[in-house]
Amino acid sequence: MTDTIAAIATGYARTAIGILRISGPEARQVLAKVFTPFAGKTPLLERPAQSLIYGQLHDADGAVLDNCLATFSVAPASYTGEDTAELQCHGSPTMLAAGLEALFAAGARQAKAGEFTRRAFLNGKMDLTQAEAVIDLIDAETVSAAKNAVGQLSGAMGKKIDGIYNQLVDLLAHFHAVLDYPDEDIEPFEAEEIAQSVGKAAQDLAALRATYRRGKQLTQGVPCAIVGRPNAGKSSLLNAILGYDRAIVTDIPGTTRDVIEETVRLGDLTLRLSDTAGLRQSDDPIEQIGVERSRRALEQCDLILAVFDESRPLTPEEREWLPQLSGRAAVVIYNKQDLPPALTAEEKAAIAAVVPVSVSISAAAGTGLAELTEAIRQVVGLSHFDPTAAIIANARQLECVTAARRSLGEGIEALAAGETLDAVSVCLEQAADALLTLTGRRASAEAIDKVFEQFCVGK
Ligand code: GDP
Repeated sequence: MTDTIAAIATGYARTAIGILRISGPEARQVLAKVFTPFAGKTPLLERPAQSLIYGQLHDADGAVLDNCLATFSVAPASYTGEDTAELQCHGSPTMLAAGLEALFAAGARQAKAGEFTRRAFLNGKMDLTQAEAVIDLIDAETVSAAKNAVGQLSGAMGKKIDGIYNQLVDLLAHFHAVLDYPDEDIEPFEAEEIAQSVGKAAQDLAALRATYRRGKQLTQGVPCAIVGRPNAGKSSLLNAILGYDRAIVTDIPGTTRDVIEETVRLGDLTLRLSDTAGLRQSDDPIEQIGVERSRRALEQCDLILAVFDESRPLTPEEREWLPQLSGRAAVVIYNKQDLPPALTAEEKAAIAAVVPVSVSISAAAGTGLAELTEAIRQVVGLSHFDPTAAIIANARQLECVTAARRSLGEGIEALAAGETLDAVSVCLEQAADALLTLTGRRASAEAIDKVFEQFCVGK
C-alpha cells in the first residue's frame, strides 16, 4: 500500500457528474499537480481537510480539461484510511479518461477492482462483513435490501461476532490459567458452568444462522411459488404485478434444470417466482415429471401464493391439494373480485383453516395489489424486520458461523464425555478462529481476495 491509486469512481457512462478518486501517500502531491484552484483562492494544500475547492483540472502539459470541485481528506480520517482526494467533474467519459491519464502522469496508478475498499479493510476502517455490505448496498435492487446493507455497513455483524468471540477468549484464558499454572490457587472449573457458557455462545450462533434466510430474501428475493388451478388467474396476477411496479422480468435458470424462474418486484420486495404449472395427479409420464418439479419448487419456496377464482366454486382438485399448504408461509389470493362471487362462506372457511392470510384482488383490473404486498410482507416477516440487527448476508458468512457453531458443539460433547480441558480448549479455539475468519481479522489472503473480486473499479 505504498503506492497511490486512482480510478474513475462513477464508471464510463455519460453522467451529470463524474468523480475521479485518488488514495495513497502521494494523494496530496498528485492532486496538486493536476488541480489548480481559481485565482485568488487559498492554495489547495493550505485548506482545512474535506473542504470543497473550485478550480481547474489540467493534463500533464497544463492544458485545462475541466472546471471542477476538489476535496481532500487527511489520513486516517477518510474512507480508505489514507490521504484521499476526489475530483467532482462534469460527467464526460472522454474528459474523465483524460483526467485519469493526468493522474497517472502525476504519479498515481490505476486502482484495481475494490482496491479502495480493500485498503479501508486493511487499514482497519471496516471489517470483512462491512466490506461485503458495501457490495450489497451497491447491488441492492430494493429499498429493503439497501436498508439491510446499510445496517450491516454500520458493523452490526462485527459487533455481534466480537461479543461471542470475547466470551470464548475469556473462557480460553481461564483454561490456560488452569493448564499453565496447575499449582496456583485458581478456582477449579465446574464442567457444568463451562458447558453453560459454551452453550450460550452456541445458542447465539444458532440464532445468527437463522438470519441467513432473511438476508437472502432481502438480497436475492423471496423464493415464491404461484399455485392454483388452470384459469384461476396466475398469469394475469404475474402481469398485474409487473405492470404495478414496472418491474423488470428476467429469466434465471433455476437450480433444477429446465425450471424457469422469473424475478419480479412487488413494492420493496423482490419475488423469485417459480412456475408451478400443475399440482394435479396425472397418469401421463411427461406430465408427472412436471408435477414432480412443481412439487419440489413448492417444497423449497419460502412463500406460496395460492390463487383461487372467487367467481367459481372450489373444485374437488383444489380441495385435494389444499392440505399441502398447511403450515407453510402462504397468502391466499381470491382473484376476479370484479365478478359476482361464487365461493361460499363454507369454502372460504375451509381455505382459511389452512391458510389464514388472504386478500381479494382483480388481476385483470390490477386492484388489491397494495394489500397483497402488505400481506406478503406480513407472511414473510419483513414488516417487522430490523435492518440494524446482525444478519448473515452471504454463504461465506454462513460457512464461518456454521463452522464455529459445530466446533462449540464438539466442545460441549467433549465436556460431557469428561475429556480434558485441553481437548475442550482445542474446540473453542477452532470456533474462535472461524469467527476471526468471518470478520476478516484472521482470514486467508484467498478468502479476502474472493470478497474484493466482487467489487467494481473505483470502489
Ligand atoms: P392461469 O391459467 O391461472 O394463468 O389464468 P389466466 O391468468 O390465464 O386467466 C384465465 C382467464 O381469467 C383469462 O381469460 C383472464 O382474462 C381471466 N381473468 C384473470 N384475472 C381476472 C380478473 O381479475 N377478473 C376477470 N373478470 N377475469 C380475469
